Amino acid sequence: MRPANESNDDVVETIKFTLFPSPFPSRWCNHARSIQKSINLMVHRVAHDRAFLQETLETIIKVDPFTRNLFRIYTKVNNDHKAQRKCLGIFRADYMLNSNLDALRQIEVNTIASSFGGLTCVIEDLHRYIVSKLNSTRLPDKYSIQAKTALAKGLIKAWLDYGKNDAIILFVVEKKVRNICDQKIIEDEIFNLQPNAVVKRRTFVELHSTCMMDEENILRVNGDEVAVVYYRTGYVPKDYDSGDSWEIRLKLELSKAIKCPPVNYQLAGSKKIQQVLAKKEMLQKYLSQYEGLDNVFQTFGNIYSLSKNEEGDRAIEMALKRPENYVLKPQREGGGNNYFGSDVAKKLMQISQNDQRDAYILMELVKPNPVTNYVCISGQKLRDMGSGKSKIISELGIFGVILADKDNVYYNEEAGLLLRSKFDETNETGISSGSGFIDFPFLF
Ligand code: ADP
Ligand code: MG
Repeated sequence: MRPANESNDDVVETIKFTLFPSPFPSRWCNHARSIQKSINLMVHRVAHDRAFLQETLETIIKVDPFTRNLFRIYTKVNNDHKAQRKCLGIFRADYMLNSNLDALRQIEVNTIASSFGGLTCVIEDLHRYIVSKLNSTRLPDKYSIQAKTALAKGLIKAWLDYGKNDAIILFVVEKKVRNICDQKIIEDEIFNLQPNAVVKRRTFVELHSTCMMDEENILRVNGDEVAVVYYRTGYVPKDYDSGDSWEIRLKLELSKAIKCPPVNYQLAGSKKIQQVLAKKEMLQKYLSQYEGLDNVFQTFGNIYSLSKNEEGDRAIEMALKRPENYVLKPQREGGGNNYFGSDVAKKLMQISQNDQRDAYILMELVKPNPVTNYVCISGQKLRDMGSGKSKIISELGIFGVILADKDNVYYNEEAGLLLRSKFDETNETGISSGSGFIDFPFLF
């Protein structure tokens, strides 16, 4: 990764990683993998239920300008019959394993910029190599799908579907891309699998002067027709800081290019939607028994609305009594935004009397059993950390790819996995936000 405070783009450092793969029960890993196609379908269907999106996000749109902007774009796309209707989703469902319940709990489903599909393949290879050096230890099974290949295949599917050999795949990226290697691995894999599919990378600001849309909504960047737009930015407010970024996003969304993800998929990934779907009577509107309803629902923990009504008041009262059992989450992605422990109570006191509380959800804290591993940090020697061993907690991520329009699903696959871990005493597992490190499951 590029270091946070480094102006020279040629400098990268090793991402934090565990020396060994961390143990993870194969039963629960298999369960998570087995429901990924159902989760892809669920997100897709929610994203095409206009009334549900409108109703569920209504109160948030009032208090949160970011969701408001996304929704404004969504409405315009719906009203433009020339806009592309096919959607490409690259999702990542994240889970933790509850020690008390011995049950897998969904933390969230990422529907935009679902990262680390590239780097997870590097750590898998490294861990296989290291484990092979330890005599008497059996190697973990090689997984059937590697994320980098599965994600590249999804992007190529959409490119082939667009049907023009000289049209490009456009990666929309941040001004300063820290996670550059992760993105380049996907780009490289696209080249390996389909050398004709040319990838170009542009920031929102660069697109301002280089992208045009004609009267048929065909998108061109520096004259190249765009088949697929793959967002690796645009999921937090600061990504739209400069110039007309929102207007560029609108143009991309209105175009004939297939977006990954389109704005309705992004909206369907909101934490508020996750909270509403955590009720079985809601989830069953989007998944039938036959499509895995029970197996998906089994992974949902308790999530509470904090809306200004009786239900919300009850949730606040409950959390104020035992704040250590909950996580308070705003409508934000990307890590570092949640409240834990005594901060839950402090924040609840602050927001309980105003409309801001609508934009938060309250989730039961999952408490996994820690495991022991060694954490390798760039520039630090292992022995600097006492015995070098650490207690860590893991979060499993399962990738999924879907290509579909409202009425047809053209492609729906599970797409590999990722394990991120953190020191037992820290709250969050985000790698980009600094507290997490990359790991891989050793299934037992
Ligand atoms: P973000 O969109 O910021 O990634 P998440 O919902 O994934 O939001 O939360 C960020 C991190 O907070 C997770 O990676 C996890 O480490 C921790 N976390 C979130 N929800 C829970 C929970 N219910 N129990 C325990 N830890 C959680
Ligand atoms: Mg997360």
